[in-house]
Amino acid sequence: MTDVILIGAGIVSLATAYELLEINNNLKIKILEKECKPALHQSSRNSGVIHSGIYYKPNSLKAKNCIEGKEKLIQFANKYDVQIKKVGKVIIATKDKQIKLLKQLFERGKKNNVGKIELIDSNQLKEIEPYIRALKAIWLPDVQIINYFEVIKKLVTLLCRSGVEILYNHKVLKIYSHDKESIVETKKQTFKSKKVINCSGLFSDRFVEKGKKFQIIPFRGEYYELNSDKKNLINGLVYPIKDPRFPFLGVHLTKMICGKVKAGPNAILAFSREGYHRSDISIRDLIEILKFPGFWKMSAKYWKVGLYELYRSCFRRIFLRDLTEMMPCLTIEDLKKSTSGVRAQIVLKDGNMPDDFIFERNNNIIHVINAPSPAATAAFSIGKYIANLALSKLPINN
Ligand SMILES: Cc1cc2nc3c(=O)[nH]c(=O)nc-3n(C[C@H](O)[C@H](O)[C@H](O)COP(=O)(O)OP(=O)(O)OC[C@H]3O[C@@H](n4cnc5c(N)ncnc54)[C@H](O)[C@@H]3O)c2cc1C
Repeated sequence: MTDVILIGAGIVSLATAYELLEINNNLKIKILEKECKPALHQSSRNSGVIHSGIYYKPNSLKAKNCIEGKEKLIQFANKYDVQIKKVGKVIIATKDKQIKLLKQLFERGKKNNVGKIELIDSNQLKEIEPYIRALKAIWLPDVQIINYFEVIKKLVTLLCRSGVEILYNHKVLKIYSHDKESIVETKKQTFKSKKVINCSGLFSDRFVEKGKKFQIIPFRGEYYELNSDKKNLINGLVYPIKDPRFPFLGVHLTKMICGKVKAGPNAILAFSREGYHRSDISIRDLIEILKFPGFWKMSAKYWKVGLYELYRSCFRRIFLRDLTEMMPCLTIEDLKKSTSGVRAQIVLKDGNMPDDFIFERNNNIIHVINAPSPAATAAFSIGKYIANLALSKLPINN
């Protein structure tokens, strides 16, 4: 019998397997992935930022795991030659009314021990990002970027070398547990394991007996890319001040490790959990969304923002208008359509969107229920936490 089966081969699952082996390298581990390759979804369709931890409520799971995970990720990248680059990040206030929020965020950053942090004025900002206009900004000089897919490739190599079996094209249909073992059913095979860890990202709620208390609602994030003659005008990461009512960070400019600059992502309700294009519709996913009372309550609260996001998604010039608030020299010709990703956003029955990571344990099964951004940054810390949780009650024979 296997010791641990993990569902999904995204960064959270792979980092958890890595941390399990750090504790006990004799464990028999299997990873079941529905796709033919690892990490085709959130883990490889993101902004590639190693987040500083500034945004999260002090002592929340996000704050703790982001700070610890960032250190672990950087150590891993240094040890295994995965390229990282220090580019720094500015969070800017372009309007007077945003300055109070900026100062509150600055204080939170200091509480969260995010490393070097400074409140700067528009002249200091010009020295860092000459083409960005703002009244004030927070400057985080040590923020780094990475290509998370490179981390994933390295993890897969290391895990396979340590005897972990990664089985692709194995879509898990059902999991349930008996006293001392759990059963995992795929289309092809049935597996037995002492522990099961559900890291299935956009589908993690499907394996939880939740009595419809919560549900994943998919939000697509679409990116544009700056044309090559404008990409060198941005040195690092430029974020607007976040609206504290929403979990998303707002459309920002992100220098990628390959040198491109991405603009985005927005946040559009997706009609399919893996709906990377406007035309992607899954009847099952759509019916599930529409039947969930929490969706309607969330929509009643946020319909204005939702409609605006849709409007901006349909018209490039509206997207441009928001970007030129930060970078006035941009023109419509500077933006070309780029990739998109879909975020797994948990919504509760009352329409609220919980802002923290959520893990649940049910007998021998651990569910990673909510692991949105910064879960890529935090993956090794989340992995360590889950590994300890799994092994604390795992009878090990050696
Ligand atoms: C647009 C966007 C930008 C982001 N930017 C950042 C960023 O800059 N920095 C950061 O730290 N975080 C960022 N994030 C968040 C981060 O990417 C995710 O939180 C993280 O990748 C979640 O990883 P995961 O392993 O939980 O999920 P996933 O990567 O989605 O992996 C889940 C895996 O489970 C598999 N699976 C699903 N169902 C089944 C099944 N039934 N059987 C078998 N396998 C299954 C899927 O195929 C997939 O491979 C961003 C996210 C998005 C969408």
